Amino acid sequence: MPVEEKYDLIIVGAGVAGVFTGYFAVEKGLKTLILEKNTSPDGATPRSGGVVTRMMDNPLDSELAAESIKIIRDVLGNNKEIIRDGYISIEDMDDAERDLEKFRSLIPDIEILDAAEVRSRWSYIKLYHDEVGLYSPSDLTLNPFKLLVYMWDRLRDMDVDLRLGEKVERLIIEDDMVHGVETHDNTRYYSDKVVLTSGPWNREILRLHGISLNVWLIGVPIFKFKVDVKDMIGVWDENIYSYWRPDNGYWIGGVYDSFPIDKADNGFRKPDKEAMKRILEGFRYRFEFNQWKLIDSWSGPISISHDYKPICREIKGVRNLYVVDGLGGRGLMRGPALAKMLIERITTQ
Ligand SMILES: Cc1cc2nc3c(=O)[nH]c(=O)nc-3n(C[C@H](O)[C@H](O)[C@H](O)COP(=O)(O)OP(=O)(O)OC[C@H]3O[C@@H](n4cnc5c(N)ncnc54)[C@H](O)[C@@H]3O)c2cc1C
Repeated sequence: MPVEEKYDLIIVGAGVAGVFTGYFAVEKGLKTLILEKNTSPDGATPRSGGVVTRMMDNPLDSELAAESIKIIRDVLGNNKEIIRDGYISIEDMDDAERDLEKFRSLIPDIEILDAAEVRSRWSYIKLYHDEVGLYSPSDLTLNPFKLLVYMWDRLRDMDVDLRLGEKVERLIIEDDMVHGVETHDNTRYYSDKVVLTSGPWNREILRLHGISLNVWLIGVPIFKFKVDVKDMIGVWDENIYSYWRPDNGYWIGGVYDSFPIDKADNGFRKPDKEAMKRILEGFRYRFEFNQWKLIDSWSGPISISHDYKPICREIKGVRNLYVVDGLGGRGLMRGPALAKMLIERITTQ
């Protein structure tokens, strides 16, 4: 017999958006159920680069990243297993001076380091011509797989009902209002409020109910190098658009590269030879290590809204059904802040 249970809030998907939505929901005293179809972290989040910087190309994303950094530090404290402090953007001097002005109020500790200073601190970074480093000691990179493992444990400790291996097949919608969800084995869970945080899978769930979400899906490749340096810092390369995160002797990074996909599951394929060539060029251009080796590569699906802005709202025409989506390649920077905003909105309505 299917079980029937009632919650204040049901969250579908336990990636970065889902775990922080759950965290803030419980803080507000909501009896919360999170349903996650996998039994270990396996969506876009654990496949991501792990960069969380406020040095973004638009003010909204910089503000969201600032709030997300605050949240991550509040929730995880000084967890050195997961978080690494500091991020540097390698740019031409003119651009760095302009960006310094742009970010100074949001990132009080931001500074320009000249090439000699960058080399003296991080000897594996190569700089050319009039390049300098725009450095923030308080931006961060994190290990996104470990972040989810930590958050799943933390949510359980907070009495969130986190159920793994439970795939939501459909929503229960009646009279233009959501009433709960139904899982793969026909179990029904009831709540008057449901948040979809299934990342690139949101679109498929909504489509079943004739609801369209204006997002594109793409697959994004990423690469893992073993290097002979341990104490490293996250790097953004403004000149060839590559990003890098250190992970205890590993160097994980990507160039801005993608392939179109029609459904999220197709975003998991191995990067092709061309992508491999581009990352090796980017790596060799920017770094010099005594010893290094490309040891792994993978891809992950991401969804991007048609206006590139994140989606965090009630679904039109279905009361109390909310969605967080369109996080693009910025979900760690956007997700925690949006989760907090959404729960504020839901609980003050
Ligand atoms: C290669 C790569 C590099 C990236 N680098 C960065 C970066 O450096 N910084 C950054 O900020 N962002 C980065 N991103 C983007 C970031 O990973 C995403 O924006 C973010 O992870 C999306 O989070 P999410 O919670 O919306 O989705 P997801 O993490 O995909 O979470 C959705 C969850 O829902 C579950 N789910 C799906 N369908 C169902 C269902 N029917 N029932 C139950 N559960 C379901 C999935 O299993 C998954 O766990 C990168 C992405 C990729 C692919």
